[in-house]
Amino acid sequence: MSLNAQQDNAIYFDYQSTTPVDSRVLQKMLPYFSEKFANASSAHEFGLSVDDDVEEAREQIALSIGAKKNEIVFTSGATESNHLALSSLIDLLISSNKRHIIVSAIEHKSVLDLAISLKKKGFTLTILPVTTSGFIELDVFKNSLRKDTGLVSIMTANNEIGTIQPINEIAEQCAINDLIFHTDAAQAIGRVPFDVNETKCLLASLSAHKIYGPKGVGALYVRGNASKMGLLPMFLGGNQENGMRSGTTNVPGIIGFAEAIRIAKFEIESDNSKARRQLKTLWDKLKNEIDGIKINGGIENRLPNNLNVCIEGVDSDALISGLANVAVSNGSACTARTITPSHVLNAIGLSDEESRSSIRIGVGRNTTDLEIECGARKIIEQVKRLRG
Ligand code: PMP
Repeated sequence: MSLNAQQDNAIYFDYQSTTPVDSRVLQKMLPYFSEKFANASSAHEFGLSVDDDVEEAREQIALSIGAKKNEIVFTSGATESNHLALSSLIDLLISSNKRHIIVSAIEHKSVLDLAISLKKKGFTLTILPVTTSGFIELDVFKNSLRKDTGLVSIMTANNEIGTIQPINEIAEQCAINDLIFHTDAAQAIGRVPFDVNETKCLLASLSAHKIYGPKGVGALYVRGNASKMGLLPMFLGGNQENGMRSGTTNVPGIIGFAEAIRIAKFEIESDNSKARRQLKTLWDKLKNEIDGIKINGGIENRLPNNLNVCIEGVDSDALISGLANVAVSNGSACTARTITPSHVLNAIGLSDEESRSSIRIGVGRNTTDLEIECGARKIIEQVKRLRG
């Protein structure tokens, strides 16, 4: 199948998976592929000028989340940032005898699988359950804290059901108990106000392609700066990013990331209110026409552009493959090609069958009211067809 979201009749409802690059972002990036192509580490004039632009971009990104410039480490995206945050702390945690880690059951697999793999290195792990609405309960979290807890990693907003966790309170508890708190904020940036002065996290993972920036670039926020916290790099070599992440700097990506985050911060209110209105219209249409449809996850405190629904008795693979020119997803895109039911939907109590009957609909900056109208109609028609 070749679905091009620019086609007149194509409807892209998968903004949690990725977003198109905003044309303003693309314009900012273009010169860095051609005339400003120099290596930012080179000592000649061309390199120094590009390096200045990278530093300006770093400042812009830091400013957008209330951080300082030297607290931003550029990476290839949130997967790498999550790995950098967790695995670079291993030695520090072992040397301070803090071998207990806490994560939630609905973390992105890049956190969850990594945390599980650390058990082989002698760590113990608590995987916090969530409520049927998809939230961590503070009391359960507090009760899970132990003398040897060293690290807590809880995402800000979930990529499948969109629930926003009480991370300010969790971060506060971590600060009181002198624990390292990391949050995967990949889905939150640009949709939820996120400021590291309010959320007292020590580490936060960001990704550009969720906010209309390019793929393959992200950042790790490190409070105070990485060497001060004792983080060890995963990649050694050219000592880029103050030694925290060797590898030739992805200049176009970083420039695009900075512009994307600047626009996202500026347009958050208008983006969110449009998304809320459109999803409400879509949901009203679906629930009026489809029996046995329910929203997965709580309806309060969730990303404004996310709707995850379970449609009784309808196989999501059959639904998706029958939806010509409409892109929705089942589970999260990163693991969507596997046939295992979503760990997030299971964590909120859905059976495997319910999980396999669920789809995620995500709207975004380019979604039109007409697409909501047509998309809803196509989903309804396909559900009716499948139910025979
Ligand atoms: N964390 C979350 C919450 C995500 O939604 C994603 C993307 N699906 C990632 C991490 C991975 O991000 P990236 O694609 O930038 O590696």
